[in-house]
Amino acid sequence: MLFVGTASLVMPGLVRAWRGEAAPPDVVLTNALLLNIALILLGWNRFKVLNAELKARTVSEQEARRLADIDHLTGCQNRRSFTAALGQMLGQIDPCESALAVIAIDLDNFKQVNDLNGHQVGDEVLYATAQRIERLLPPGGVLARLGGDEFICALPYHSRAPNRIDQIATRMVEQVARPVACTGGEIDITISIGIASSIQLDETGLGTASAQRLMHKADIGMYHAKKQGKNRFYWFEAPMENELRFRNELESGIRKGIAAGEFKPYYEQQIDLESGALVGFEMLARWESPEMGVVGPDIFIPIAEDIGVIGELSEKLMAQAFEDAKNWNAKLTLSVNISPVQMRDPWFAQKLLKMLVQHNFPANRLDVEITESCLHENVGIVRSMITSLRNQGVQISLDDFGTGYSSLSQLRSLPFDRLKIDRGFISDLKEEHGTELVDAILSMSEGLHLPVTAEGIENEAVLEALKCMGSMKGQGYHYGRPEPADKVIERLDAKGLLANKETGNVTKIAFGDKPDRSEGGAQAG
Ligand code: C2E
Ligand code: CA
Ligand code: CA
Repeated sequence: MLFVGTASLVMPGLVRAWRGEAAPPDVVLTNALLLNIALILLGWNRFKVLNAELKARTVSEQEARRLADIDHLTGCQNRRSFTAALGQMLGQIDPCESALAVIAIDLDNFKQVNDLNGHQVGDEVLYATAQRIERLLPPGGVLARLGGDEFICALPYHSRAPNRIDQIATRMVEQVARPVACTGGEIDITISIGIASSIQLDETGLGTASAQRLMHKADIGMYHAKKQGKNRFYWFEAPMENELRFRNELESGIRKGIAAGEFKPYYEQQIDLESGALVGFEMLARWESPEMGVVGPDIFIPIAEDIGVIGELSEKLMAQAFEDAKNWNAKLTLSVNISPVQMRDPWFAQKLLKMLVQHNFPANRLDVEITESCLHENVGIVRSMITSLRNQGVQISLDDFGTGYSSLSQLRSLPFDRLKIDRGFISDLKEEHGTELVDAILSMSEGLHLPVTAEGIENEAVLEALKCMGSMKGQGYHYGRPEPADKVIERLDAKGLLANKETGNVTKIAFGDKPDRSEGGAQAG
């Protein structure tokens, strides 16, 4: 306005003065006009700069929002953006016609891939998996990585054609199972899948609450798939929810039970069949749960392995067992079971030897039982572990022999001290042709120069049959059930087989000494 005002006053005067028709206009007014023009130019320039700044900020804000919504490793969505998107998708479906399937995907044994090959390879596997899954999604499908090795996707489908989702899940399982080419070689990975449908929600509707409920149901289906053996898919069903709740209670019960010392070593007698002498005990873990009573290892060992506490649990049990066994006659051996999961720890042998020193327990009284399934994992690690332990005098037995398909060459290449014939074969001795397999195993062990222990001797008939087959050790319910430490003490006291503290026979056997392992064992009295 100022410009218009001053310009209308000054400009006509200036034009007339320029033409020589009048005197030049007032100097103050002319200067005011010039100042005005300068101000306008300055303002215009500032406006342009501000505008550019605003545009740049909007773009970077959009980029930041986009980056906050994606998973940087795989480029798919993340938990936050997926939940929001699923909430919206749920609000948009027509309940009569269409439905939404949520597919929860978890890589099987991904931790092992990371541990064995490093995180770089782990990342490559995650990226390749995301790519393979994304390619199978129909239009409108969304894929997200929730973190770690967990993926989830949402896809619309016709509510009367759930088969379509079955087909997609089947293809996902197949496609991901193809080897992934990574730095340094090919990696095999599989996935477990759980599927839930919006039809299974009590009430559909917009919002993250419904989205989260649906994601949780898919997750439950996925856990079920894991439990059924992995590399497969399951649709969510209501009873799975109770199973999972029970499983969660067991998991937290096990964690608390370990801290509270509720896991106790029980002991099963091992006998020299020929002489009938007691030669040692196998430690078998029991959970004395205040809520559930005495729980067997078949229930809690697999869970302890899954939740990563098997090492801690086993160490506590062994520590207790070493202390218990120090009260027994020094000729009695102690056998402990080791889980395949523990054998993946390259420091396992060192840890065990350190424990022996800490508890002042002679290595030559210890017998470590490993199952055949350990041999399939990493024979190299197993061999070096066995060698370190044997160098210190610990004996190594191959447990459940005959159930794990180990090859003869594997058996020959690993320095075992003993084979334990699985109780499945021993119970067959009751049958008419039951002796044939045990005979075969015995002649094989003879060929390998390995002494044997027969497990699961349940009655006199089986015992007699075994005695006719050669000399061996044996154990089983025929000699009594596994019993707690105080019962073992009573049993040993009656036989005069307690440690002779005065003569100090507990510590007389030095670390690494050659053990006295004559099958004659410790004779009563
Ligand atoms: P296993 O090493 O084969 O142990 C022998 C199992 O057979 C024990 O079951 C024992 O109670 C049972 N048994 C003994 N005699 C007889 C018999 O005459 N007939 C029958 N039918 N069974 C008999 P339990 O104590 O339930 O242990 C099951 C498995 O759990 C063990 O099998 C072992 O593999 C594992 N386990 C036990 N304690 C531990 C532990 O501290 N750590 C690890 N990693 N595994 C353990
Ligand atoms: Ca065993
Ligand atoms: Ca066994």
